[in-house]
Amino acid sequence: MMNAEFRAPPSPSRVAPSLPAGAGETPLPLGEGGEEAARSADGAAAPLGLAALATPEPWYAAGLGFSCQPGCTACCTGEPGYVWVDEGELAALAAATGLAPDEFRRRYVRRTPYGESITERANGDCILLGAEGCTVYAARPRQCRSFPFWDEHLRTEADWARLAARCPGANQGRRWSCAEVEEARG
Ligand code: SF4
Ligand code: SF4
Repeated sequence: MMNAEFRAPPSPSRVAPSLPAGAGETPLPLGEGGEEAARSADGAAAPLGLAALATPEPWYAAGLGFSCQPGCTACCTGEPGYVWVDEGELAALAAATGLAPDEFRRRYVRRTPYGESITERANGDCILLGAEGCTVYAARPRQCRSFPFWDEHLRTEADWARLAARCPGANQGRRWSCAEVEEARG
């Protein structure tokens, strides 16, 4: 299983992974000057004012290096953590293992107060980790698929540097464009 530093703590972004982009974000304070700031003196809409509200470029606008390193399983092992699964992911995992969803759930999934998570062995390894790596790689959950492009690793350059100290694939190999990072992020 992903070690505790890699795996998600119970956070809203992973407990409710299907939230649409932007859900929960703080709305612009239109009633406190925001609306006025987007209008010119004669009341007409002011394009320049709207431009000022555009989202700034992320610090990784020039892209990021990442290639998972052969033989490394660091994010599937270690201290206790969580790998969240929703119904669709569970069905895909069950199909990949040739099990009925209920049987897959019984063998490999645990319930937590925050949702369902893949079971881990006593040593913290993900129960789906085999000698050659992930045994369900093609059907692995979104949380695994999007690693290491998680919000907590992308927030600042320092967050990415902290991740890179634990993930030997960070800053290596393939260069991901900013758009690719955004598409891949969890
Ligand atoms: S290189 Fe990084 S992403 Fe790949 S298994 Fe190791 S810790 Fe995980
Ligand atoms: S499902 Fe696969 S990729 Fe995800 S933590 Fe388990 S072994 Fe690793």
